[in-house]
Amino acid sequence: MREHDVIIVGGGLAGCRAALEIKQTDPKLNVALVAKTHPIRSHSVAAQGGMAATLKNVEAEDSWEAHAFDTVKGSDYLADQDAVELLTREAPKVVIELEHMGVLFSRLPDGRIAQRAFGGHSHRRTCYAADKTGHAILHELVSNLRRYGVIVYEEWYVMRLIVEEGQAKGVVMFNILNTSLQVVRAKAVMFATGGYGRVFNTTSNDFASTGDGLGMSAFAGVPLEDMEFVQFHPTGLYPVGVLISEAVRGEGAYLINSNGDRFMANYAPSKMELAPRDITSRAIASEIRAGRGIHPDGSAGGAFVYLDLRHMGKEKIMSRIPFCWEEAHRLVGVDAIYEPMPVRPTAHYSMGGIPVNTDGQVRSSPDGLIEGFFAAGESACVSVHGANRLGSNSLLECVVYGKRTGATIARYVQNRKLPEIDEQSYLHGAKAQINALLNQSGRMRIAQLRQAFQDCMTQYCGVFRTEELMQEGLNQLQQLKQQYEEIYLDDKGTDWNTELIEALELRNLMAVGEIILTAALNRKESRGAHFREDYPQRDDTIFLKHTLAYYSSAGIDLQYKPVTLTLFEPKERKY
Ligand SMILES: Cc1cc2nc3c(=O)[nH]c(=O)nc-3n(C[C@H](O)[C@H](O)[C@H](O)COP(=O)(O)OP(=O)(O)OC[C@H]3O[C@@H](n4cnc5c(N)ncnc54)[C@H](O)[C@@H]3O)c2cc1C
Repeated sequence: MREHDVIIVGGGLAGCRAALEIKQTDPKLNVALVAKTHPIRSHSVAAQGGMAATLKNVEAEDSWEAHAFDTVKGSDYLADQDAVELLTREAPKVVIELEHMGVLFSRLPDGRIAQRAFGGHSHRRTCYAADKTGHAILHELVSNLRRYGVIVYEEWYVMRLIVEEGQAKGVVMFNILNTSLQVVRAKAVMFATGGYGRVFNTTSNDFASTGDGLGMSAFAGVPLEDMEFVQFHPTGLYPVGVLISEAVRGEGAYLINSNGDRFMANYAPSKMELAPRDITSRAIASEIRAGRGIHPDGSAGGAFVYLDLRHMGKEKIMSRIPFCWEEAHRLVGVDAIYEPMPVRPTAHYSMGGIPVNTDGQVRSSPDGLIEGFFAAGESACVSVHGANRLGSNSLLECVVYGKRTGATIARYVQNRKLPEIDEQSYLHGAKAQINALLNQSGRMRIAQLRQAFQDCMTQYCGVFRTEELMQEGLNQLQQLKQQYEEIYLDDKGTDWNTELIEALELRNLMAVGEIILTAALNRKESRGAHFREDYPQRDDTIFLKHTLAYYSSAGIDLQYKPVTLTLFEPKERKY
């Protein structure tokens, strides 16, 4: 059995930032980080537009209070305001720390860090490295992992979280190269496993964003918080779904329907294209539903709208958002200097996740904690985004709460012993699960079942939701779950068996999907990204509260938890 003081699952921004904080606090601690991809291929590397912080380099009158207010209003008042206060107060400091670590942020002519406009933010406060911000930050963090002596298991797949009697004790994982299994015990386990975009058929997320950490937590009896809140980003490139960053609208691009109108004037007249994402995505979906979408031949009634950059000019496009220009050119053959880009909403971000307090400790219930278990980043819910995240607040959350969680862990493990684990029984269980999948004699292909599942979630739990739709979605999901017992793997080998991994990921995706649908069905109101056509209003009397969903094979139990309101009273949300 392997042993570490700390095992962190996830090599994105949140996991790397936590690992560094632990080593910087106490270099003697034995810290290991596991990732199923190479760490620098974590989805964080794809982040484009930037990271919010009130450095006041461009607008001197900005303040953390204004940033906190924008975040809470953007969240449709569901965010926990103590967590938002920490996020926005710490923001300038963590950006400066990153820059001292070597991150190459874009600059103003006077040499200070540049800041741009972003949706839902009242000031220009998003720091960026052109439109490759995640790339710039993650590369620096990963090189620092080596420098500080963090042990990295790259391309290992974690398949189980070990929780016994309310305490997390370790994980079961295998080397993807040869499927050799290992049980790891640790004084602290941290999940920073990212999002679950692959629950939907069109997403901006990478292929590895399959909600593994959420699935494993749910199977181990840990509740998941606010899973009904799925962010659909307004501008996924049609038809592929990859992201065209909000930075493009931040730099001045227009959204245009088939009549040639800037239709945001009818939905958010003061913010226009820079309204928050939930509002902008619904506006685009409404235009398409009303027949004002566009077909590839340019005629009306199609499935996308235009994102028009032409008035911005070549120099601005190529210096501020070169990667977005390249994506459209490479993937759909559009030269955005001369033609508008076809876009439509795409599944992008998970506001919900593993419930944690502001020190990153995982909750077992509205007021209980699980010993030895921590989480941060997109897989966690602290909750700073509530019902709708503002662009450029997620990288910030990963860094602020990755760092805080690392600091908590460094203290936490000081007086703890390594837990006792029955290694053989976990190895035996893992082998049995893998062999059962390899030997299963069904006829269902993984890709076929995954597609059916993703179509089901997209159709029945997308941008617009109703009771009837979601009930039908849950019924279909029950059937799809049975078909999981009939999947068939062609590859029976042990070397680099990606089919086996896809089968394990699919199990996690399906559990996450069921929790999203169940939590969404029970929230009979519209708030942020969760829009119910049968309950179009926000209902603070009943639903100003967080959902906690407990998974079991018999079904999903829901509990609720109050929202922490410290700074701002809930108000109607208008832009
Ligand atoms: C295209 C795109 C652009 C974005 N742009 C921005 C932006 O400009 N600004 C902003 O604030 N936010 C942006 N976001 C959101 C932001 O990038 C993410 O929320 C954030 O980077 C998530 O980081 P993370 O550390 O939580 O997880 P990730 O970076 O997703 O990393 C997850 C890690 O967990 C590992 N892992 C998962 N499951 C397992 C398992 N079973 N076993 C072992 N390892 C596992 C993976 O290998 C990976 O290393 C963007 C997101 C996308 C998709």
